Amino acid sequence: MALLKRPNGTRDTLPSETSEWQALEGFLCETAHINGFHEIRIPTFEHTDLFARGVGETTDVVQKEMYTFEIGKHSYTLRPEGTAGVVRAVLENGLLNEALPLKLFYILSCFRHEAVQHGRQREFHQFGVEMAGSSSPAADAEVIGLANQILTEAGVGNASLRINSIGCPTCRKQYSEALRNYFAPHTAELCATCHDRMERNPMRLLDCKEAKCKVIAKDAPSILEYLCDDCKAHFAQLKHNLELLNISYTVDSRIVRGLDYYTKTVFEFIVPDGDGELTVCGGGRYDGLVEELGGNPTPALGFGMGLERLLATLHDQGITLSEPDPCCLYIVPMGEKAADMAMKLTNQLRKEGSAAQTDVMGRSLRAQMKYADRIGARFTMVIGDNELENGEAVLKNMKTGEKITMKLGDDFVDRFCDIEIADRLAAEE
Ligand code: ATP
Ligand code: MG
Repeated sequence: MALLKRPNGTRDTLPSETSEWQALEGFLCETAHINGFHEIRIPTFEHTDLFARGVGETTDVVQKEMYTFEIGKHSYTLRPEGTAGVVRAVLENGLLNEALPLKLFYILSCFRHEAVQHGRQREFHQFGVEMAGSSSPAADAEVIGLANQILTEAGVGNASLRINSIGCPTCRKQYSEALRNYFAPHTAELCATCHDRMERNPMRLLDCKEAKCKVIAKDAPSILEYLCDDCKAHFAQLKHNLELLNISYTVDSRIVRGLDYYTKTVFEFIVPDGDGELTVCGGGRYDGLVEELGGNPTPALGFGMGLERLLATLHDQGITLSEPDPCCLYIVPMGEKAADMAMKLTNQLRKEGSAAQTDVMGRSLRAQMKYADRIGARFTMVIGDNELENGEAVLKNMKTGEKITMKLGDDFVDRFCDIEIADRLAAEE
């Protein structure tokens, strides 16, 4: 029978890769906690309506990329991003009644049916944060500061931060008019989707990925000239805060973000990637979203960081987050009695948190040593009739070749753990 393949745009994360994901997730949780964010977990699918309203009807995500299915009378969609579901959960569980600001983070898979290419999958993972309750630019600086801390501490040396303000519904109205006027003479040259954007949300024209539209959009008027006093002051204060935090940035008035609910601050962290560049993190303020989803008007903001893109960037720079710790001791038993002893010792070591292994295949001495080598065991120890009789066995350090005679008595586990820690420290030096 033919082997089945995974769907295009999905990945298997193999045992050799999962330890790196675990290290990454641990690091993200820790950094989020230090910054006062707490984890929230939400369903993988939601009512389709949530994304139509929360992500926005005019976005590529809703128009072209959603995995939607019907069961009975209901339409459901696999989450294409985290924000809409998190805000839904916040409202449904009354979290805004608790102390504000509410500071949440999540690590989750997202599903988007888009053209698969480098840095673009159909199932991918995001680390994201959402902060609700503050309209102050200090909150914007905190959120951007967290993304910056993560990228810096993970070792991404070459990420650049681009910021922009896309104003509020008041200033955006005038700006949309200015954009319509600018694009009108070029209508014939625009792609079909952009025709629709002209009508419904001209700002999204600036986000079009078609080359012919990009060329025209290059000279479009800048939103920054249309900001109202409030938005202008907010943006100025954000820049001041970033300077205070020593976070370098450039202002890029072309960043509009794909999603409809953004107001004021939008930002992206970008890394060079071959001839082009890749956005590892994108976010901003969405003061209109909570109300759009049925809550009381509440200012909020957040970001989403693509974890596959983050790991790929780290790998490009030669950084691996952690080496797997496969096996600290492989016990090689020869004979039935020795096998009993090996099983007991292995069990005791594991209880003490030591990753010990022994034979479960009935292999010969040679085959066991070969296996120990393959799984990267740091120490091996052969137990046979002689060792049982003398109550002693030889521990071999597989890397240095050093041999240590060990008593097989009650304190074996303690003594092995000491040796193992000393070896680990020596290896780190
Ligand atoms: P792009 O302009 O690259 O399509 P986007 O605006 O659709 O990005 P967001 O919705 O802001 O992206 O998602 C936040 C982050 O999630 C992105 O910055 C990126 O790192 C990651 N991301 C988005 N789509 C994908 C995908 N299809 N595959 C892998 N990572 C993705
Ligand atoms: Mg996209």
